[in-house]
Amino acid sequence: MRHGFTEQEWNSFVEALAEPALRGRIETHITGCGECAAAAETDRAWTEAIQREGQQLKQAMAISPDRLEAMLADSLARIAAQTPAAAGVGERLRALRALLSPLIGAGTARVVMEESGAALSGGISAANWSQFALRLGDSVREICGITPAMLATRAATALGIAESGGFA
Ligand SMILES: [Zn+2]
Repeated sequence: MRHGFTEQEWNSFVEALAEPALRGRIETHITGCGECAAAAETDRAWTEAIQREGQQLKQAMAISPDRLEAMLADSLARIAAQTPAAAGVGERLRALRALLSPLIGAGTARVVMEESGAALSGGISAANWSQFALRLGDSVREICGITPAMLATRAATALGIAESGGFA
């Protein structure tokens, strides 16, 4: 919860997916709240940087599959470096969505992530994040094939959160 907005509302705003009414409410709030204005800027920049990584991987998947492995490793290292250690599950899911959307489509990314989370009792948490990453890979494989599934599992694992906080 951030100043009256749920994490889900905030994420949809940062990802530019908020409905006009919600977007208006948050924009109005931000006009008078420096803290949220700064957070929105930081979160948007982070989300966009990760989306660009996803776009590059998408191109690599099509043009130079032999270089994909090396590119993925570099890409995930950059993402890890940009992800605040204190980032919670919701923020990590937003980052994962930003990476997967260019690769498999925003709608598919949302569906496979929701499905994979719904299969876990109690929802996605630090404790079951690695299970979530595996289920996500399975869901992506069914819909998109092996290579995107490998990317999704690796990305989810890299964005993982350890029970103690920070990266898994
Ligand atoms: Zn605020």
